[in-house]
Amino acid sequence: MAAGADRSGKVWKSSARLADGRQIIYFDESPGLGRAAVPDGRNLPARPEGGSVLRFDPLLREWIAVAENRQDRTFLPAAGQCPFCPSRPGSPTEIPAASYDVVVFENRFPAFSGAPGSSQDAGPPGLGAERPASGRCEIVCFTPEHDSSFARLSPRRAATVIAAWADRTEVLGGTAGIEHVYCFENRGEEVGATLQHPHGQIYALPFVPPRTRQLLASARAWRKGSGGNLFDDVLAAELADGQRIVARNEQWTAFVPRAARWPFEVLIFPALRVPDIAALRQPAQAALSELYPDVLRRLDALFGTPMPYMAVWQQAPASDAAARDELAAHLQIMATRRAPGKLKFMASTESGAGVWSNDVLPETAARMLREAC
Ligand SMILES: [Zn+2]
Repeated sequence: MAAGADRSGKVWKSSARLADGRQIIYFDESPGLGRAAVPDGRNLPARPEGGSVLRFDPLLREWIAVAENRQDRTFLPAAGQCPFCPSRPGSPTEIPAASYDVVVFENRFPAFSGAPGSSQDAGPPGLGAERPASGRCEIVCFTPEHDSSFARLSPRRAATVIAAWADRTEVLGGTAGIEHVYCFENRGEEVGATLQHPHGQIYALPFVPPRTRQLLASARAWRKGSGGNLFDDVLAAELADGQRIVARNEQWTAFVPRAARWPFEVLIFPALRVPDIAALRQPAQAALSELYPDVLRRLDALFGTPMPYMAVWQQAPASDAAARDELAAHLQIMATRRAPGKLKFMASTESGAGVWSNDVLPETAARMLREAC
């Protein structure tokens, strides 16, 4: 299909089980492909049960997942042994089918797994508080092409990925004990990706993460002070100023935040506020499938080499109605290369004090990204 020929983003979903019982879900761009009927012929060891725990850090009042079982996970295999390429005769992978469009499956080495127990106990946890790291971790493969990237996806394929994110946000967000669904991509060895195949991940978490709580606290304080919505007002201010806009269409605006932490940080805000990806409708979904890869292509073009980045969806918790009224789902892209051969690290001031300094003026970063392509 020619790029952009079908911008509806319609997908056909089918599901199966891998040899060790993990779920795999195919998101196909045409019906009747029968991919879920292809069995997983591997002889996989049983999944370890309850491998990881949550320990409470009383100093910052945050939960930390400790997952010893993840140390053995696959690390940068040769292209011929990529577990995310489709299976070929004699070379079975995580995906039994001979091809796929977009596919989602449970991570073989999850930081969070298992049926969520009862919700958190009331009151602050004690010094030695620990509980199972329940939840679910999924892999999202964006394309069967090993050497591609999200930036090079057609709008049609990007729309299929967005449809998969929406489906998982809705299904996992509606699961008892899951309080937050977090979709993200680590791109490049420089930011810790251990597999090169274009893929992202989804964490279904048994708590609302600190960053989301901070966004909500900021939005509530803004509402109290100004009467307006923080995300609407930030977007209006960026549009009025204009200097930090990278790219935009009628539905979405990509801009470098005025107080960017990373050298090339880009936020993609919707014109019409929605609480999460599952609430996205047309034409916003189709418009995002064009703008997002465009922004990623600009990042890759900047220094003529693939840009390492972390791209994450900030969205509202499924079960918090007040939060869903206030928070605007948005994409945050944190690109870490500040100049050819130079990376920005979270070093002592950032990691130890939470104090950031940025070597690139956000207005300059935006201008460079506008001119790149
Ligand atoms: Zn691959």
